Amino acid sequence: MDFKDSPEEAAFRAEVREFLKQELADDVRQPDESVLGVGTGEDPKDMEWLKKLATRGWVAPAWPKEYGGAGLPVTLQFVYNEEMARARAPRPNFLAIGLIGPAIMVHGSEEQKQEHLSGILSGDTYWAQGFSEPGSGSDLASLQTRAVEDGDDFVINGQKIWTSGAHRSDRMLVLARTDPDAPRHKGISCFVLDMHAPGVSVQPLTNMADLHSFNEVFFDNVRVPKKNLIGELNRGWYTALTTLAFERSSIVNAISLQQLLGEVVEATRPYRKGGASALVRHELADRAIETHVAVMLSYRVASLQAKGLIPIQEASITKLYASELGQRIARTAMSLAGLYGQLGPDSPYAPLLGRIERMYRIQVGATLAGGTSEIQRSIIAQRGLGLPRG
Ligand SMILES: Cc1cc2nc3c(=O)[nH]c(=O)nc-3n(C[C@H](O)[C@H](O)[C@H](O)COP(=O)(O)OP(=O)(O)OC[C@H]3O[C@@H](n4cnc5c(N)ncnc54)[C@H](O)[C@@H]3O)c2cc1C
Repeated sequence: MDFKDSPEEAAFRAEVREFLKQELADDVRQPDESVLGVGTGEDPKDMEWLKKLATRGWVAPAWPKEYGGAGLPVTLQFVYNEEMARARAPRPNFLAIGLIGPAIMVHGSEEQKQEHLSGILSGDTYWAQGFSEPGSGSDLASLQTRAVEDGDDFVINGQKIWTSGAHRSDRMLVLARTDPDAPRHKGISCFVLDMHAPGVSVQPLTNMADLHSFNEVFFDNVRVPKKNLIGELNRGWYTALTTLAFERSSIVNAISLQQLLGEVVEATRPYRKGGASALVRHELADRAIETHVAVMLSYRVASLQAKGLIPIQEASITKLYASELGQRIARTAMSLAGLYGQLGPDSPYAPLLGRIERMYRIQVGATLAGGTSEIQRSIIAQRGLGLPRG
């Protein structure tokens, strides 16, 4: 594989850079790196940014043209992602663009694609993913939220938790049990739920970085029209797996990590007054090698997706590696900056405008979101290596 830009790629890179230079104001750039829950669109500026991208067909540039994307080939997508990450452009509606929309493309009917995808691309509908419940996170198939048929609708009762962005969402892709007597994986269905419907209530949860990005969501006799069933009745588990595979391959942006490492090296230079010890140099060299590996892994996932395949164990490998690497980079940054690393954005002495301190706390969630590291290791062992279940 040739990693140098072809003339077409170089021209496209210049076009994206110019667009970013003209359109991405400094106060719209993301302060933190690439973890779900950041850029959840609470800031109206995030949505204005989305609308700017929409004018170029760049909200979801990898989506096929027939559904309003730019149909970019995989190589140009890399260029696009790289430049967006370098500029720290926000990723509002990330769940809709990165995983829910692609899952609807795979499992939804033509009518559903026409109904839901355009709102995602225009930035008019914001989405949440309602999978986890209290007691059903890693063991998602044990979920208890119920959907019962009633005339032209399903009636949904139950609770979700850790639902990113639910407080500003218009729609939710929700999993609910439709056949309580079937084996666990075979009695679940997947629906599009209107978050403004009567009976939906959202309670905020604040994370350990003091951000309100996820929520508890309660359903009290919420009516969902039957036309909003995605895929077949009782086969929602397969839609969930597709969604999770897309989520795992995009949850941590490896290019952002590479970019971040460079910034950490520069920002912590003043704190290494006598030069860098062998220990520091070796640690930074390790992080540099690891970020290259993370980028290669994400290229592999993207190239499988570009062939229309759904990478399962490959997505788990990428998610596991990049999320754990994010935490290693945060630890390295913290130890390089010493006590200064603990200063937040309000201190004039904080390196990288306080991003090290925020990154250190935010990265904790990365090895949980989209399935914990233990769950990814189990998938890799079973699906990738063919080992039996424990
Ligand atoms: C930042 C963030 C955003 C999130 N956003 C969303 C969202 O938008 N929508 C949504 O539905 N969910 C969301 N989640 C929830 C996330 O999917 C769950 O937290 C995750 O799946 C783990 O589930 P749990 O929290 O119930 O932990 P548990 O499943 O209770 O796990 C607790 C511990 O036990 C370990 N464990 C559990 N089972 C096994 C096993 N079989 N083998 C080995 N170890 C095991 C886990 O690895 C973990 O260390 C989000 C989480 C985070 C942190």
